[in-house]
Amino acid sequence: MGGTKIAGALVDSRGRLLARARRPTPAREDGATVMGAVAEVLDALAADAGWPRVRAVGIGSAGPVDASRGTVSPVNVPGWRRYPLVEEVARRVSGRPVTLVGDGVAMTAAEHWRGAARGRANALCMVVSTGVGGGLVLDGRLHTGPTGNAGHIGHISVDLDGDPCPCGARGCVERIASGPNIARRALEAGWHPGPDGDRTAAAVAAAARAGDAVALASFERAAQALAAGIAATATLVEIEVAVIGGGVAGAGDVLFAPLRARLRDYATLSFAAGVEVLPAVLGPDAGLVGAAAAAAQGTGLWQVPGAR
Ligand SMILES: [Zn+2]
Repeated sequence: MGGTKIAGALVDSRGRLLARARRPTPAREDGATVMGAVAEVLDALAADAGWPRVRAVGIGSAGPVDASRGTVSPVNVPGWRRYPLVEEVARRVSGRPVTLVGDGVAMTAAEHWRGAARGRANALCMVVSTGVGGGLVLDGRLHTGPTGNAGHIGHISVDLDGDPCPCGARGCVERIASGPNIARRALEAGWHPGPDGDRTAAAVAAAARAGDAVALASFERAAQALAAGIAATATLVEIEVAVIGGGVAGAGDVLFAPLRARLRDYATLSFAAGVEVLPAVLGPDAGLVGAAAAAAQGTGLWQVPGAR
């Protein structure tokens, strides 16, 4: 469930997508209209021959979510504030158990089950995109926290007197490392977009690869913030690996090279210094695969390999 689209899939016990459905999110409409679009996705999946074998339903939603109450308040969907999404979905799926997690936690579940964190007992997975989200695997299990938001690394402060963040704090990782902030910082420092006028972080990444010093500096600053957040996490809970996905991770070495270098500055203690940084492998389907993995763990109805 996101601010632009509502995607659903039937996922089998090996993480394969057997059927898909998708609708645009009527994000500016009232809550009932948004739910109507969710119901259309569910109806489309229920029409598939595989539907009778569905044992549980997982939801990964843009946040904030409150899994303890079954409610969601996606920032970009103003018609849903503390909206009882779990109850509304449960009414439409014939008593199957429904598990809700935040989208960063869902991506983490997917990368642990089928992706770059497979076989790792302790991992941080991050989505670096329009925002910065994340989730944790601890002791071999997805760690959701009481409300389904644990691991939300984008709103850890890494710059004590830094710029105000929309969340209300200052100097958050997201305020420095998200795609829009990478682009904003480059523009403010004098980077000029190319003839196509593309002012996104992807265009800044292309300029950085071509050697543009301002573009490189903006990515290095983002890498520094991510490194500080990863180091803090490694120091707190002893993660072995940090997996990074999302559109900004598509910048490749422009991001990953300074990130690995900066990590050596911040992750210094013996038990934290070995943390690896890997790109995510599942891409845009991670949310769907991860929602299924979270449902598997949440209900205990079936075992997800790798989720020991
Ligand atoms: Zn923040």
